[in-house]
Amino acid sequence: MKKKHFFHEELREGIFLISCKEWEMGKATINTYLIVGREKAVLVDAGLGASELKEYAQQLAGVPVMLVLSHGHFDHTGAVNEFEDVWIHPEDALILGKNIIKFLPSRKITAKIHYLMEGDELSLGDRTLQVYNIKGHTAGSIVLYDQKTKTLISGDSVCRRVFYIDGNKYPINRFFHDLMKVDQLDFTGVCSAHDRFLLPKSQIRHMIDVISDGIYHSNITIHILGRKYFQVKHGSGPEDPKFIDFSAPIVSREQLKLEVDDFFKKSGYQPIPEGASHE
Ligand SMILES: [Zn+2]
Ligand SMILES: [Zn+2]
Repeated sequence: MKKKHFFHEELREGIFLISCKEWEMGKATINTYLIVGREKAVLVDAGLGASELKEYAQQLAGVPVMLVLSHGHFDHTGAVNEFEDVWIHPEDALILGKNIIKFLPSRKITAKIHYLMEGDELSLGDRTLQVYNIKGHTAGSIVLYDQKTKTLISGDSVCRRVFYIDGNKYPINRFFHDLMKVDQLDFTGVCSAHDRFLLPKSQIRHMIDVISDGIYHSNITIHILGRKYFQVKHGSGPEDPKFIDFSAPIVSREQLKLEVDDFFKKSGYQPIPEGASHE
């Protein structure tokens, strides 16, 4: 096993970003988050590849660490087998360790799998994390809400790079609906898996506005692993906090347009006017 050079940063009281140099791909990074309570800590996601992540998190926490996965993708599950137990939404337990991307071999998960569903709460002693399911990036993607610091740990659900990998498998009106469900919560910062700074709460509406507009108007086509996608890009690049990069299979585009229409019709959602503050 190649040694990884972990570092951490406390973004909010008792919420540590843990990452390493080896998890950088240009401006996109892979990050895990450790939320430390008085009696227990939760590590959200397990990064890429084997790594001794458990040992690092355990030392930092000073209390027992339970591993929770935001979803089942390979870049969030690397160190799973360092743990005896892992918690994940049942729908993503189905893809855990599976070869969802051609060049990656499937692997055996030795950690015992436990389920987490919307409405579950993880009690860490002096703080409690609430679980919400957002169907979109995957069927079993979850976010965790920490009321104590008004923070959302969002995996790949509330973020700047939205890979709508399964196209119309999970209708995008459902995705937007689930995002708005979480938007009702009282939070002021979002810890996302591929950026190392807190996103604002307004990221949710920003995503919906940019993505829904782009589903109609984007004319960028890209190829990812032999499959054709259309891409929506917003902002001047990853340095721009407003940067959004959305992609979905081109075959799903007409369906996505219908779903966006349906979302606007049924939800009464109003996009934020151009130039208005998102705060
Ligand atoms: Zn993912
Ligand atoms: Zn990811």
